[in-house]
Amino acid sequence: MALNRSTAVRADFLPFSRPFIGDEEIELVSDVLRSGWLTTGPRVREFEKRFAEYVGVEHAVAVSSATAALHLALDAVGLKRDDEVITTPYTFAATAEVIRYFDARPVFVDIRVTDFNIDASRIEEAITGRTRAIMPVHMAGQACAMEEIVDIARRHNLSVVEDAAHALPTMYRGRMVGTIGDLTAFSFYATKNLTTGEGGMLTTNNADLADRIRMMSLHGVSKDAWKRYTQHGSWYYEILAPGFKYNMTDVAAAIGLCQLEKIQMMTERRAEIAAMYTSALTDMPQLELPQTFSDSTHAWHLYIIRLNLDNLAIDRGTFIDQLVARNIGTSVHFIPLHLHPYYRETYGYEPGDFPIANSEFHRVISLPIYAAMSDQDVGDVIAAVRDVAQQYGRV
Ligand SMILES: *Cc1c(COP(=O)(O)O)cnc(C)c1O
Repeated sequence: MALNRSTAVRADFLPFSRPFIGDEEIELVSDVLRSGWLTTGPRVREFEKRFAEYVGVEHAVAVSSATAALHLALDAVGLKRDDEVITTPYTFAATAEVIRYFDARPVFVDIRVTDFNIDASRIEEAITGRTRAIMPVHMAGQACAMEEIVDIARRHNLSVVEDAAHALPTMYRGRMVGTIGDLTAFSFYATKNLTTGEGGMLTTNNADLADRIRMMSLHGVSKDAWKRYTQHGSWYYEILAPGFKYNMTDVAAAIGLCQLEKIQMMTERRAEIAAMYTSALTDMPQLELPQTFSDSTHAWHLYIIRLNLDNLAIDRGTFIDQLVARNIGTSVHFIPLHLHPYYRETYGYEPGDFPIANSEFHRVISLPIYAAMSDQDVGDVIAAVRDVAQQYGRV
């Protein structure tokens, strides 16, 4: 892409995301590797305990991904073939595919324009006799209208399974996300606010659900492997259900324990970067910036800007190409599920069936936001975004 000569371009490419890994993670992983116990064991149990304390919830079960966590959650609430689960089209593949694992149906409800979260005022009209659960997704780290959603679920006897892949930590009306719905799934994928490489966690205050999840996460067996093989355990076990292989390893949990020590600091840095973006870009008529709300905190997993396309001579794709030409990596969250071939062909969806998800998708760009970014990195993003917006603006 040709740039005019006056444009300042940073020397190296700034990736959209990079994990914040230090010597602590490397040392604790080395300890685990030397210990002779690699898979689910004491580090996983410690990570679960500390995570539950951090969120303020009774039970936390560590698993291999948030996708696994969501699958286990829907099993635990008893989802069956032909049941329906209400969720948002504005999410990652995982949220809806786990519903399909049961031959159940994802029923999409459009988002609200303010924050890309499911529009709670439109959930009730989507409920039928087959609806079993509601799966809200806390987009970008901003809480859904959980009070309304839990209230609707209670009145219709539905389970609430939250996709909190972006929402660590998010406080909503004085409560941490992870303590509100029946079950909450967190992701520790490499790009997420806290990472274990691959990993996830399910939280709940319901002991029966926690027991079922623990059992189903490891082959539906009545005892955990680490208990079976230590000198205090025994060789005996019983298979109570055809479970899954979704347990977390001690290697991953060691990374998670170090990350949990840093989560406060990493969250503050994300908030600082968000504040820098907002103050430096707020005067640009070509852009619409994320809003925050007084009743909740923002985990700032993503900083999503929206292009005011009427004030620009280029589309979103070209805007991204122009940022790449200035060595700035970005991403798009998300291509709404109803636009993908599988959902389009299986359920006959048209783009306009979820008009807000559809129209917002065409104008969003996620800017880099992660604890490993320096002030210089943030400044480079701001300079590049301003430059592209000004060069191609028509205000
Ligand atoms: C990342 C993500 C997931 C899946 O997380 P994994 O740990 O990779 O399985 C689910 N939902 C949303 C919204 C995500 O962003």
